[in-house]
Amino acid sequence: MPELPEVEVTRRRIAPLLLGRAIVEVATTRPSYFFLTPPARLRRALAGRRAVALERRGKYLVARLDDGSRLVLHLGMTGQLFSSAASSPRLLRASARALQVRQPPDDPEGRALRALRPDEHTHLRLRFADDGPEVWMRDARKFGKVLWLAAGASDERLDRLGPDALEASGAALFAASRGRRVAVKSFLLDQAVLAGVGNIYADEALFGAGVRPMRAAGRVTRAEWERIAAALRRVLARSIETGGSSISDYVAPDGRDGAYQDERRVYDRAGAPCLACGTPIRRRVIGARSSHYCPRCQR
Ligand SMILES: [Zn+2]
Repeated sequence: MPELPEVEVTRRRIAPLLLGRAIVEVATTRPSYFFLTPPARLRRALAGRRAVALERRGKYLVARLDDGSRLVLHLGMTGQLFSSAASSPRLLRASARALQVRQPPDDPEGRALRALRPDEHTHLRLRFADDGPEVWMRDARKFGKVLWLAAGASDERLDRLGPDALEASGAALFAASRGRRVAVKSFLLDQAVLAGVGNIYADEALFGAGVRPMRAAGRVTRAEWERIAAALRRVLARSIETGGSSISDYVAPDGRDGAYQDERRVYDRAGAPCLACGTPIRRRVIGARSSHYCPRCQR
């Protein structure tokens, strides 16, 4: 599932493709739960508009349009936002599986695969007046969301978000967690507490801070919260720097792969030796999410 770093990498790479370009046409798949705004309304609202800013709120991408309205995108579990001119072995492999791109027998090097074609999972396509590359949103499992908000309209999905995890503050987390019996891991995943933290980076930050994920949030000390906040900021920034984690269907908009999955110290390493002390990493389900931790380094 794309988390804050993947969404931020997507934002940085898609912004130059989107900003300032007049949208002439919007193609969508049929109405479904993917569209919080019905496709017909979306097509009318976006035609002729230009995006003036692309912001990130937690795991949401928010494009501000020149008429004051906003286009809100959420990548869900398997959402991909990319340029129709992208070329990536991963993207193209996924495309070849799903986009019905056939490799002709006289094309052993797969040159034909270099052209992406939309398929039934390509739910949103923005075409621009300059006839340059289109921006596509594809989502095989359709847990992603597209929402258009008129100028001045608010939405509780955005309103309920806490401060951005890149600006996590130990003092604020300490204050917010007093009296809370929920596990510190579940507390960190609550988007109203911190926007953008997901499973991978919560596990990595708790390891970095030496705090066990199942501890009650209200029992974590001020000093430990300072360490958790610092570790969160560090792992998120490092992941953005390396292009995010390339997991399942996540692909950066230009098709480049992220490399953060090679730096994970506990996430998805159950049974493997802790990189700090050699003790086998444990996996435990907390609040229906699997958590990974070192029983020796984390207390
Ligand atoms: Zn350890």
